[in-house]
Amino acid sequence: MRAFRFLRRNFEHGVHPAHHKKQTQDLPIQRVPFGRQFIMPLGQHIGVPSRAVVADGEPVERGQLIAEPGGFVSTALHSPVKGIVKKVGDFRGVDGRFAPAVAIEADPFATQEVDPDAAPDWRSLSLEAFIEAVQMAGIVGMGGAAFPSHVKLSVPDGVRIRHLLINGAECEPYLTTDHRLMVERPEALLEGAEILRQKLGAEETVIGIEANKPDAIETISRHLSPDQPVRIVKLKVKYPQGAEKMMIKSVFNTEVPAGRLPRDVEVNVNNVGTVVAIADYFLRGMPLIERVVTVAGPGVTYPANLIVPLGTSVRDVVRFCGGLKPGTREIIMGGPMMGRPVASLDVPVLKGCSGILVFTEEQTARRKEFPCIRCGRCLEACPYFLNPSRLARLSKARMFDEMKAYNVFDCVECGCCTFACPSNIPIVQLIRTAKDDLKNRKESDG
Ligand code: SF4
Ligand code: SF4
Repeated sequence: MRAFRFLRRNFEHGVHPAHHKKQTQDLPIQRVPFGRQFIMPLGQHIGVPSRAVVADGEPVERGQLIAEPGGFVSTALHSPVKGIVKKVGDFRGVDGRFAPAVAIEADPFATQEVDPDAAPDWRSLSLEAFIEAVQMAGIVGMGGAAFPSHVKLSVPDGVRIRHLLINGAECEPYLTTDHRLMVERPEALLEGAEILRQKLGAEETVIGIEANKPDAIETISRHLSPDQPVRIVKLKVKYPQGAEKMMIKSVFNTEVPAGRLPRDVEVNVNNVGTVVAIADYFLRGMPLIERVVTVAGPGVTYPANLIVPLGTSVRDVVRFCGGLKPGTREIIMGGPMMGRPVASLDVPVLKGCSGILVFTEEQTARRKEFPCIRCGRCLEACPYFLNPSRLARLSKARMFDEMKAYNVFDCVECGCCTFACPSNIPIVQLIRTAKDDLKNRKESDG
């Protein structure tokens, strides 16, 4: 069966930030040269950190296991290069805090090829063995969340997945990694999608793509084969169209209730980069050791879409792009709406790093904050129907516990409220502070 549905689908609320994608949307993906030093943090996914299985001074091959999952919600880590383990210890992470990592020095004379025969035969694996293979390949959500993919694929008994939904929205401004993957590697995307669809027993694959990527829609359409049950749904350009629940609403007109998961409405959602990573592992034997990163923003000399080995420093990536322009003030890892500023140029590129965005003083000048005028724009913007102004007020008063009654944990930190606020109130930052405090207290209470 083969079906196309080119409708512009939508969800309620959300915002329309400027796209800023022209800088890189037509730039082919190129490979960044291998550097010398690589830092692989053990906690670069959501969940329990990985456990190192290598020691100082040990030689490693590119793609070799260097850390095993630390629990079920955890993944393996592999060496991005052939080289020597310099140190297993604490290194500075993206937020500036020290955390356990494996530091590797690359062999400058290695070809850095991966053995393609290492791929397991996905067809002969049971679903349980397939899920374990995904975990041991280190695959996580590549859209930025870095949630272990095998956890998403682990569907409880009695739950059925009817639709595999591939998230090609890439709604964050500046980012063009998924866009370029869809244009340049449509075969890999469709291969990975078919592997997942068959393993999940889903009836169909739906690829949701925002309407501002007509070349991606056209390219994938051309590569569809008549025996693959795949359809493409063209989505309205709106932020956060790529949030799972928003995309399910747009594509299937189905609400995922608060506190429930996509599988509760028979849908499994995976990002474009994740699906390509599935194909790269099961068909080419490559675990997750590199990813595509968009380097853009007014402060970078030569914007680019790059394949970057994980653990490469932001400094090496930026240097490859011609360095920073004068007046650079801030570097964000991820998109401008949900990404986080990096503490130093020496922090490594992680599995969840979709972008390195360089901003100058003009974009980062702190805007004067005014009192809330109760205009309600943040409520109209919030796609999760929360009350952001109330949450911000409670957070300012450090009434964090009271925020639970206003569903603070339903907030996905999309930043729509902050974007919409005419008083420049840093609403999402205030909510983040409260969530961090509540989580930390819960952890310390055991
Ligand atoms: S309250 Fe949270 S979910 Fe709602 S708009 Fe703000 S950041 Fe997004
Ligand atoms: S958008 Fe800003 S000013 Fe308007 S109600 Fe929300 S917090 Fe207040």
